[in-house]
Amino acid sequence: MKLCIFDDDRIGLAIGQDVVDITDAFATASRPGWPYPKYDWVIKNFESVRPRIDEASETARRIPLASVRLRAPVANPGKIIAAPINYKDHIAEANNDPQINHGKTFTDLSKLGVFLKANSSVIGCHEEIRIPFPDRRTDHEVELAVVIGREAKRVSRENALDFVFGYCIGLDMTVRGPELPDFRKSADTFSVLGPWVVTADEIPDPNSLDLSICVNGKVRQQSNTSYLVYNVQRLIEYASAMYTLYPGDVIMTGTPAGVSPVTYGDVLEASVSGIGTMTARMAAD
Ligand code: MN
Repeated sequence: MKLCIFDDDRIGLAIGQDVVDITDAFATASRPGWPYPKYDWVIKNFESVRPRIDEASETARRIPLASVRLRAPVANPGKIIAAPINYKDHIAEANNDPQINHGKTFTDLSKLGVFLKANSSVIGCHEEIRIPFPDRRTDHEVELAVVIGREAKRVSRENALDFVFGYCIGLDMTVRGPELPDFRKSADTFSVLGPWVVTADEIPDPNSLDLSICVNGKVRQQSNTSYLVYNVQRLIEYASAMYTLYPGDVIMTGTPAGVSPVTYGDVLEASVSGIGTMTARMAAD
């Protein structure tokens, strides 16, 4: 299933050329109040209301996909964990380009660890990406994003996929510079998630997916998740050794070579096989 959030926080399933509004299926799931839990409410409750979702997918209101505004398919990720250097060709590219490395030498993830992106940076693909510092280089990074489905702590790689809810496309937008990545990659609008979350049952092997991004129609990054240094299972093992993962937490798995600057008005078309394609736009000046 392709779970999406659209328009005024409606919950939907993308089916063919339509969105089916399944918001009412969640009516029986109690809504948490303050203090808010560390999980995303929709992801956490998806399995428990699954029979109602199945029923709604047949009977509920259908709207043409082309007429809705897609929001981030996880409305409230408790945290966004991101792998900084997880494709060998991107490590080489970064070490060869002083505009990317700013005097640092990148070796491997086990030495750098993962970093966190602020959840205030999350947008859907129909919202615009804004450039915070116009005089600095801002890059696209296309990534496979993993959405956690069950609370996970100290999970082994052998069982790691049992904790995955599904997968979406992620853009890890980045200002290049000497600061910590947590700062440079957490600007408002810098974590684009979309167009929907494909549930894990439809993607048995997340480590064999083509991913690509075109900027204004020109291919900039094109790779396959089989080239991940830490594959999806290993990233879950590594991250969950440090933090408890909660339903709705997102792991951005890293980007391959081909990162390049974007500017006002650019159109970014990102694809991951098994998930689909999303088009995101840089805001006009
Ligand atoms: Mn990245």
